[in-house]
Amino acid sequence: MIRADLHLHTDYSPDAKIKPKTIVHQLFAHSSIKAVAITDHNTIRGYKKVRKLASPYRDILIIPGVEISATGGDIIVLGVAELPPKPWSPETIIDFATESGGLTVAAHPYRAYGLGDQALNYDFDAIEVLNGISSHEANKMAKKLAEEMALPGVAGSDAHRTDEMWSVYTEVEASLDLDEILRSIKKGLLMVASAGMSIHF
Ligand SMILES: [Zn+2]
Repeated sequence: MIRADLHLHTDYSPDAKIKPKTIVHQLFAHSSIKAVAITDHNTIRGYKKVRKLASPYRDILIIPGVEISATGGDIIVLGVAELPPKPWSPETIIDFATESGGLTVAAHPYRAYGLGDQALNYDFDAIEVLNGISSHEANKMAKKLAEEMALPGVAGSDAHRTDEMWSVYTEVEASLDLDEILRSIKKGLLMVASAGMSIHF
């Protein structure tokens, strides 16, 4: 089993302040979370930077990702180090992710920039049911949506600032291997968890 923060922004997102090297250092030093998906807004440059900085480190995994501002709401693509073609409709993004061996997550469906009930119309692989900066109520509604759609529910901190990192995470039944992790997420071999307290290093 591995623990992964599946939603995190670097300063390559216009609204985020986290330096790529901070992510690598904190992930390496973290006692239990050893994988992170870099999900900047509409760019994979942050992911590429983090991956490069992480290459000398053993036992951590940087998962390619992006949070696309799609028509109707935000969609996270995991496992693909490329942007989907435009127009960024949910259908285009989902088709692209599927063909590229990745997966799609409806991000914080009941918060601003979330798809809300519209998510019901699309073939997502998972729903983000625990988002570190969403309200308890919004997360609860997302969990209900995942149940209704019979989809796995994943967790990510959605950190934009350093003190928000690793607040919640997904426990995946997999080793520290990208393909295994993606496969287990799709199969729902996972649990979401909250750190519940600040993490000290
Ligand atoms: Zn986000």
